[in-house]
Amino acid sequence: MKFIETRGNDGINPKKVTFSEAILNPIASFGGLYVPKRLPELGDAFLEQHVGSDYKVLAKAILEAFEIDIESSVIDEALALYDGFDDPSNPVPVVKIKENLYVSELYHGPTRAFKDMALQPFGLILSSIAQKRKENYLILAATSGDTGPAALETFKDRENVKVACMYPSGGTSDVQRLQMVTEDAKNLKVIGIKGNFDDAQSALKELLASKTFKAKLKEKHISLSAANSVNFGRIIFQIIYHIHNYLELVRQDVITLGEKIYLNVPSGNFGNVLGGYYALKMGLPVERLVIASNENNVLTHLVNTGRYDMRGQELIPTTSPAMDILKSSNVERVLFDLYGPERTKALMEQLDSEKMYALSSEELVELQDIFVADYCTGDEGKEYIRKAFEEGYLMDPHTATCLKAYETCCVKPLKTIIYSTAEWTKFSPTIANSLTGEKDIRDIEALNSIAKEAGITIPPTIKGLFDKKIIQKSVIEKEDIEAEILKFL
Ligand SMILES: *Cc1c(COP(=O)(O)O)cnc(C)c1O
Repeated sequence: MKFIETRGNDGINPKKVTFSEAILNPIASFGGLYVPKRLPELGDAFLEQHVGSDYKVLAKAILEAFEIDIESSVIDEALALYDGFDDPSNPVPVVKIKENLYVSELYHGPTRAFKDMALQPFGLILSSIAQKRKENYLILAATSGDTGPAALETFKDRENVKVACMYPSGGTSDVQRLQMVTEDAKNLKVIGIKGNFDDAQSALKELLASKTFKAKLKEKHISLSAANSVNFGRIIFQIIYHIHNYLELVRQDVITLGEKIYLNVPSGNFGNVLGGYYALKMGLPVERLVIASNENNVLTHLVNTGRYDMRGQELIPTTSPAMDILKSSNVERVLFDLYGPERTKALMEQLDSEKMYALSSEELVELQDIFVADYCTGDEGKEYIRKAFEEGYLMDPHTATCLKAYETCCVKPLKTIIYSTAEWTKFSPTIANSLTGEKDIRDIEALNSIAKEAGITIPPTIKGLFDKKIIQKSVIEKEDIEAEILKFL
């Protein structure tokens, strides 16, 4: 399977690349992204055949259908990392919370958020490609809180890869920060930036564009790559669990094969729901993909009006920070799939220059044939957390945004799966506030308070963080990042 470019080819880049190449150099011509030339058709026979398959067997079959240029033994090794999840036989439990409504729990990996689903196998595969090519890579990451820990965890002590991870000092939860600053592998560097996530992100972009930085890396025989969600090496692993979830409902006798369901996904950079989109296109019976947003509701606006509009919009800090995004990168892949490369290039260029684009009414019809969307405010979210808890389910603020969209968008009497993207331990102050009204407390107090309220224990990996030694002490000004990273290398 070859990969092509969402904005067409510039005559300099190769017209088609392999999966490995798309992973190592994720940015395509004109600033576009790589997408598979054609999606494999799975069809009913495939689903039928895999009703009895466990997660890894299903995953292997889907990856094989993509015909990626990764050796079978490496894929097996990568998928074996799901054995490190809470339940090796089922890394993604699907739990009923009330009539017709199910939760797919994507947070049972080492860093307790959904980023592990893709980053765990991705890290092993990237390192294996680098070793095979005898090349060395520096992965630069800017994180608002969940990508950083998951990227560090997956690359720690891996050969031929180093990671420099920047986070906004004071801008993450205590748990997220501790997960990063207590990492002590030699190939990892964690840097706190004095500023917010946008400052960390723009520092990263400057570095990626800096000629002097690249020249210095070249002297050291190091190439740059990125582990953010535009990398197709992450997207491919985010297709699998949507199909697994569907089959899980079949196994639980909740639906029969072929019955349509809603998939309801809390969305930020659109990587998670994009996996659902590809699953649908590959033949999964899905009624609609439901996009749940927070107050940063550009996606809801796009699906409901056909206009992607960032004019005069400021990023609003919310209680679901992993969804605080205005420019949602992976939407581009849907534009390409529905409207083709010329139109995608035109729309994305308009978004860059005018901060907005508008779809035609025909284009909007096509989009609405697949997606529905709604957004949830922080106060509504807290109410949903409280109500769900009273009914017996503890959920994080990202997951809670789905419940609003469930009420307004899932209008047919079909089964719905909402996606839980983080464990309660990662955003505990908001949850404690929802359950007990406590305000302005630190993570450790919130964790204790929720554990008491819910009669559960704090998982040892989270509790242990508060006693671990702080290894990564750098907190610096944006201007000093380049020097700090070169010193580390
Ligand atoms: C990353 C993340 C999201 C958003 O996922 P996208 O793929 O960027 O849409 C939602 N919730 C949590 C907890 C996350 O870490």
